[in-house]
Amino acid sequence: MPEKNILKTLEASLPPILFNILVDTGRIASTLGLKAYGVGGFVRDTLLGRKNLDVDIVVEGECYPVVDGLMERYGLMEVIRHERFLTAELYLDSYRIDIATTRKEEYPRASLPQVVPATLREDLSRRDFTINTLAVCLDPERFGTVVDLCGGLKDLEAGIIRVLHKESFTEDPVRIPRAVRFALRFGFRIEEATEALMVEAIEGGAPREASGRRMLDELVNIFEEERRWQIVERLFDAGLFNALVDGFDNPEGTLSILRKGEAILGWYEGIRKEEEVEQWFVYFLCLTDSLEGDALRKLSCWLDVGGKRRLLAIEKRDEAIGALEAIEKDPEDRVGIYEVFSSCPLELVLYIAARGSPVVEGAVRLYIEELMDVRPILTGRELKGLGLAEGPRMGEILRLVFREKLEGRLQTLEDELRFVKDLIEKG
Ligand code: ATP
Repeated sequence: MPEKNILKTLEASLPPILFNILVDTGRIASTLGLKAYGVGGFVRDTLLGRKNLDVDIVVEGECYPVVDGLMERYGLMEVIRHERFLTAELYLDSYRIDIATTRKEEYPRASLPQVVPATLREDLSRRDFTINTLAVCLDPERFGTVVDLCGGLKDLEAGIIRVLHKESFTEDPVRIPRAVRFALRFGFRIEEATEALMVEAIEGGAPREASGRRMLDELVNIFEEERRWQIVERLFDAGLFNALVDGFDNPEGTLSILRKGEAILGWYEGIRKEEEVEQWFVYFLCLTDSLEGDALRKLSCWLDVGGKRRLLAIEKRDEAIGALEAIEKDPEDRVGIYEVFSSCPLELVLYIAARGSPVVEGAVRLYIEELMDVRPILTGRELKGLGLAEGPRMGEILRLVFREKLEGRLQTLEDELRFVKDLIEKG
């Protein structure tokens, strides 16, 4: 097969600074007697004609002399080295460039895996799918030549997601959602044997053996994909979620909550409130809607969801849902609505809108649009000016003012003062 060269495509698709970095990396490596390659997603995407500015470089032998050369060439100050992993991150303008020594993991007996230098072939063969094993030569003599050691080009052209070996999914179960994510992103199909291995790994309980934190990262990646709900649907069909924890027993209902969640998030962004919400976490709450509280806590702990606000949302979920009955009965009760939602992180409130009836959704909109911004203008100081002493009575009056404000009956400072004077007169 003739060699494929993507020099021109790289030059056309990358910003000049990134293209120059590739050229200089190749040159510097070559003067040091080393070979550098572009690898991973950006090679795959360049071949597909898709934009990808996440430049990953590997150097066969040792990357750090090349990193030093680049620092000197570009006058770089900022480089992060992870020597244990044989990697480095460079920052240039607003771009991040990852450079690593070609490497593999070794498992010395009874100890954690160790990252050790390896050949390019070994480095590429530990990757997830053939389409992700493609490399591009940065050597000045062969700059732009595609290096295809694992059959990636053929699969890329045929639109196929294929693992490199039989143990791939059990070795790293995070590859299960990755396979589905890439398949839907590119409109590719998962090759039959790969699909069978995936099902087998799920049925054998492999997903639970994965690193929870990495599984969560992958979930977040899925939520950022254009075809996110199709990916989630495929993963439901494949049984991935129930392999993590039991209780994902309403895929259709969950998918409709997720879609509704997306619409609610769109609405929330549109009204441009100051408070930022974590979109992925709203989706996470939607995805786990069918789980009992204990299963949700167990899963969140394993995934290492973390964060005070998120843990509070998880803790309060069932209580908040339980309190919706009162809102359903009296959707005009502004104070009641405020009381239910004001102690909940906003992500939980948005999720509740996504799963709730139109009445509950209306209450959430009212809460976010109006009630959550209600603040009394009056303070204790003004009350003191009216002759009230500090103490429980003052607290009670401030609470009553707040309730009246929630009800929309007090607008200005004068309204509030009049209301308080009335209260004082009535004793
Ligand atoms: P994306 O466009 O979603 O960022 P990507 O392919 O660039 O996709 P990364 O997660 O940034 O994905 O990974 C970079 C490269 O590292 C991949 O192309 C692949 O070669 C390798 N890789 C990533 N995750 C795994 C994994 N779980 N197992 C094996 N190789 C992986």
